[in-house]
Amino acid sequence: MKRWPVMAALAFSPALALAKAPATPPPEDAPHGIANQAAEAQPAAHAPADTGPVPVPEPTEKALEHAHEGDILWAIDLLWGLLVPAVLLFTGFSAKVRDVARRVGRGWFFTIVVYFALFTVILFVVDFPLSYYAGYVWPHAYDLSNQTFGKWFGDELKGLMVGLIMGSLLLWIPYGLVKKSPTRWWLWTSLIAIPVTAFFLLVAPVVIDPLFNKFGPMKDKELETKILDLASRAGIEGARVFEVDKSVDTNTVNAYVTGFGGSKRIVLWDTTIKKLEPDELLFVMGHEMGHYVLGHVLKSILFAAVVILVTLYAAYRLQAGLIERFAARFGFTELSDIASLPLIMLLVSLLSLVIMPVTAGYSRWQEHEADRFGLEITRNNHAAATAFVKLQQENLGVPRRGLLYKLWRADHPLLGDRIDFCNAYKPWTEGKPGRYEHLFRR
Ligand SMILES: [Zn+2]
Repeated sequence: MKRWPVMAALAFSPALALAKAPATPPPEDAPHGIANQAAEAQPAAHAPADTGPVPVPEPTEKALEHAHEGDILWAIDLLWGLLVPAVLLFTGFSAKVRDVARRVGRGWFFTIVVYFALFTVILFVVDFPLSYYAGYVWPHAYDLSNQTFGKWFGDELKGLMVGLIMGSLLLWIPYGLVKKSPTRWWLWTSLIAIPVTAFFLLVAPVVIDPLFNKFGPMKDKELETKILDLASRAGIEGARVFEVDKSVDTNTVNAYVTGFGGSKRIVLWDTTIKKLEPDELLFVMGHEMGHYVLGHVLKSILFAAVVILVTLYAAYRLQAGLIERFAARFGFTELSDIASLPLIMLLVSLLSLVIMPVTAGYSRWQEHEADRFGLEITRNNHAAATAFVKLQQENLGVPRRGLLYKLWRADHPLLGDRIDFCNAYKPWTEGKPGRYEHLFRR
């Protein structure tokens, strides 16, 4: 539930969110609790004889309840994210903040920086109850988290600092463009979002991510050897695989690909290492290697640039009428006035809601192809399917959801569909070539 108001305002946020998305099953897909119990219920998972199809387990009561509350929280968060900027805007509060920022900041650039700092801190405070409930109370209630309050709050403050610094460094860019090019700023902003996002992803794994967790080489050397063998078959240098101590934050399991250029890497949560059998883990790594080899991070940056372009163009078309009509309430008459930040946030949030089925669909497609890559490189359908079963159990996943959920929320294929695919996809048994086999090294 981190909102990075800065970036949202900049509209660079979809780019970052998407570019980082190519992770495995997200916590929402999968949460835990009953984890151990559930794992015991599947002892056949790695028995050598058991290589047949794996049934999709029924979700537990607890998982269904968790999913239901998750839906409610999602809706509340969405409405809250629209309500807050709307109130700041229509009450003229944003214009008052701008007046203060002008007195303190004096020049154009520092007025933006001061406004942004005040605005971000106000949002942090106003959002706090919701962030606290969704980020701390809720996962603890379901035994999905063992994070201390100190770690959680410390991470929140660090996130706030990172947001403040990045916004202060970047927000002048779109506002400068609005000023210089009132009719084409949406185009220039989306173009600039590409190198900005790429740069952010280049430095984030090295500079920002280590602020929150410890990253290092894998501790289990035997397992590391197996993973590095798989990586070299996928054409990835071994030094690109990292282990992160997520067990201080969560009981859920995951892995992801992040970074860009020299910092591109696969990150494996230590919780995942603990809870998955080696063969299951190898499939998960095969999936991540798929993201890596298929260039999903770069593709996501470019895809996001198109999404930003469409969103900002629509925002550009809508803002003029709104400002003209409500100028007296808003307390500004030009979009280039920094007091317009909540208006941009509001429009971008509304428009992303409309465009979400497209972005979620794009992400699901990448995830599906990464699953295919993982299956082709490991050829262990059974371990792949039981890996998803564990994910469902550990992360309190619900394997089948309704169409609305799928269209708006599922940035990964539903777990039931993934297990079905793992059971069914094995072209090599019929002597047919896989889609990605030509990329593997012998
Ligand atoms: Zn993935």
